[in-house]
Amino acid sequence: MTCGNCGAAATQGPDGSWTCSNQCGWSSTAPGPALTPEITTTRCRGCDAEIHGLNGRYACGLCGWSNHWDEGHQPLPAAGNPPRGTNSLH
Ligand SMILES: [Zn+2]
Ligand SMILES: [Zn+2]
Repeated sequence: MTCGNCGAAATQGPDGSWTCSNQCGWSSTAPGPALTPEITTTRCRGCDAEIHGLNGRYACGLCGWSNHWDEGHQPLPAAGNPPRGTNSLH
């Protein structure tokens, strides 16, 4: 980690925040808790096996079934196409 202001080396404090060792006054806020994906379990709709998924997304390794990404709790980060509107307002 380097200072975000002057580029000098930064030292990490006990609370996880970083402070410039060059004493330019820069300091970073302590990093927040890492986002851990929510692991959920459901029944495969193809073969009824118990499968685990992340954030509501499931894919069965036995029969190849997977649910639609739109059923997930959050959109995929790299969703290229916008979801097709079901209630078009013309
Ligand atoms: Zn600095
Ligand atoms: Zn299956």
